[in-house]
Amino acid sequence: MDGPQGPRLRVDGREVINFSSNDYLGLANDPVLRDAAARAIERHGVGAGASRLVCGNLAPYAELEARLAAFKGKPAAVVFSSGYAANVGTIGALVGRGDTVILDKLNHASIIDGARQSGATLRVYPHGDLNKLEKLLKSFVRSPVTGVTQHRKNAGRVLVVTETVFSMDGDRAPLREIVELKERYGAWLMIDEAHATGLLGQRRRGLAEELGVEDRVDATIGTLSKALGCAGGFVCGSRALAGLLINRARSLIYSTALPPAIVAAACAAVEFVMSDAGGQRCRALWERVNELLRGLESAGMAVASPARPQTARSAIVPLVLGDAARAVEWSDELFKRGFFVPAIRYPTVARGAARLRLTVTASHTSEQVGSLVETLSRLNR
Ligand SMILES: *Cc1c(COP(=O)(O)O)cnc(C)c1O
Repeated sequence: MDGPQGPRLRVDGREVINFSSNDYLGLANDPVLRDAAARAIERHGVGAGASRLVCGNLAPYAELEARLAAFKGKPAAVVFSSGYAANVGTIGALVGRGDTVILDKLNHASIIDGARQSGATLRVYPHGDLNKLEKLLKSFVRSPVTGVTQHRKNAGRVLVVTETVFSMDGDRAPLREIVELKERYGAWLMIDEAHATGLLGQRRRGLAEELGVEDRVDATIGTLSKALGCAGGFVCGSRALAGLLINRARSLIYSTALPPAIVAAACAAVEFVMSDAGGQRCRALWERVNELLRGLESAGMAVASPARPQTARSAIVPLVLGDAARAVEWSDELFKRGFFVPAIRYPTVARGAARLRLTVTASHTSEQVGSLVETLSRLNR
């Protein structure tokens, strides 16, 4: 890729329209963020020099964490070098050997890796399956070593982790029900709002806001790299949680701090998302999403979550093609016709569920969305 991220990309010297980015609000190349980054370079230089716990905790961090906490309406926020590092570090800080982590089957790799590294016992429920989740919470914990089923009372801490908007399917977790279950059985709940932060809820905080359950979630993960257009991850929660992470999260402690330019740009991005202009940008995104969904529907092409009422949308529209070869073929055809949509295949998604993961951003035009739909429906014939 040559040139900045945006609806138009230069790929190997060819200009194509990009429908594969997570830059949902079109902030990655926004002048406001560019200015904030440039000013921070003038003031703080390029590299952070060390871990935040040594001498890398440059001034923009305090501002970003205060702003993230205000944005999310939480007492505290801790910034990590990526969303991946935030998930791995937080799970490892919260649970360890003798504890249990319960995961949705379709959770992001960073959640799975964090759970594995933590040393806790792993339990997985089929995607969105509340009955199975309840069964897991209710019973047992069966030791993978001895095979002995242990009552929950002796099973250490139990942490449930789910994405709120799933990254490859674009559907939503039944979060209200999950909150009720975790409260009923005394577990902790950590949610990953990577694809909802900046997009969902009145204040664009995420799905937990939209469903009114923010105060009942123990740890909220977000990333600065998607709708916020920068890089880095963050965790929001209580002050006690923040204190624990600073002392225990290895991916925070043993990794060099983010460059100050990125931290300052992220600060500007959070400010933008909280503003009226951010609200407008978000509405533009949903208009494009609706155009894409309506277009695909009238072309007779089903997206994975069949009925998507207006209230259950996300910016991710999966066109499941099945076979990996078929998905690659469609992706190649699209490229020839001027569109960039890489095929998503196993092991990112299940075998036989290869797909084009279409994402629109607020910076796309209606015409661009229209020409994608037209091209897809021609391929579908
Ligand atoms: C992208 C993503 C991450 C990782 O975030 P990065 O900032 O890219 O490291 C974590 N969780 C989910 C659900 C994601 O989609």
